[in-house]
Amino acid sequence: NADTAMYGAKNGGRNNYQFFVAAMHENAAQRLQTEVQLRQALERGEFLLHYQPKLNLAAGTISGFEALLRWNHPQRGLVPPLEFIGILEDTGLILPVGEWVIGEVCRQLAAWQAQGMTVRPVAINLSARQLQQADLDGAVERIVGRAGVDPALLEFELTESMLMANPEAAVEILTRIKALGIRLSVDDFGTGYSSLAYLKRFPLDALKIDRTFVRDLPDDPDDAAITKAVIRLAHSLSLKVVAEGVENVEQIRELEQYACDEIQGYYVSRPLPAHGCAALLAGAPAMA
Ligand code: C2E
Ligand code: MG
Ligand code: MG
Ligand code: MG
Repeated sequence: NADTAMYGAKNGGRNNYQFFVAAMHENAAQRLQTEVQLRQALERGEFLLHYQPKLNLAAGTISGFEALLRWNHPQRGLVPPLEFIGILEDTGLILPVGEWVIGEVCRQLAAWQAQGMTVRPVAINLSARQLQQADLDGAVERIVGRAGVDPALLEFELTESMLMANPEAAVEILTRIKALGIRLSVDDFGTGYSSLAYLKRFPLDALKIDRTFVRDLPDDPDDAAITKAVIRLAHSLSLKVVAEGVENVEQIRELEQYACDEIQGYYVSRPLPAHGCAALLAGAPAMA
């Protein structure tokens, strides 16, 4: 970006400056190309979802999944969401793509049910632009109704910054979505700042503790204290707690001591294509 170019100009002399300017143009050109390709990706059917299970600690069973967006780029292969979600948001493409995600989850749930499987709720990540959409609840109701899926099988994940940007508006739209029967949770909890006064006014079902607090359990006493406190807070507000990013059994032992309800992370499973989830639900071992 421009700052980097300036830095190069002052500190690295002319060659570095040229290098940075070239890199800057390349990035801008690359981004533009990605934007053009993203505009076509939806109609070309290049988006797909992977699903990461959540494990109920007390029961030892899969309690649900989280749908995670992937872009199957013709040359680059599977592109992770952090490389393109920002562009979808900046261009407004997140609205049609976000609706596609909800529809695709519904289609998948119906397909699993048609196969005779006992399905579990699937969580969908919403972006700020979707929450600001005037008729989000109407759009969701239409998509879910058309698919003939029980709304109780859907959950929406929201971040603290999305909720706190305009808390009064968030209370209103979330109350309407909750009335449809859809569950609501706060993603990456602890990384933003939430007003506790509002937290109890949002019609929430769960908090997901961000993986940065889970990563250094049980060794880091600060992270242990934060995790314990968040679980207490959540339980006192009658919310379930999901710990994100669980990668080893020591973390699980610690989280069990704090009475954490559910865990999600590579230790249980990486995000899987839909057919991998079917195997999990059919009773194959959750931990491979
Ligand atoms: P998130 O919702 O917090 O999802 C968790 C991310 O952490 C996922 O990355 C997941 O693969 C990764 N993860 C899960 N377990 C572990 C673990 O044990 N260790 C580590 N290091 N990572 C783990 P992913 O799939 O790349 O998604 C990144 C972010 O992109 C998501 O964060 C979410 O904010 C966003 N995203 C994904 N799909 C969608 C979507 O359909 N719509 C919107 N608006 N955002 C999405
Ligand atoms: Mg999430
Ligand atoms: Mg998260
Ligand atoms: Mg995240």
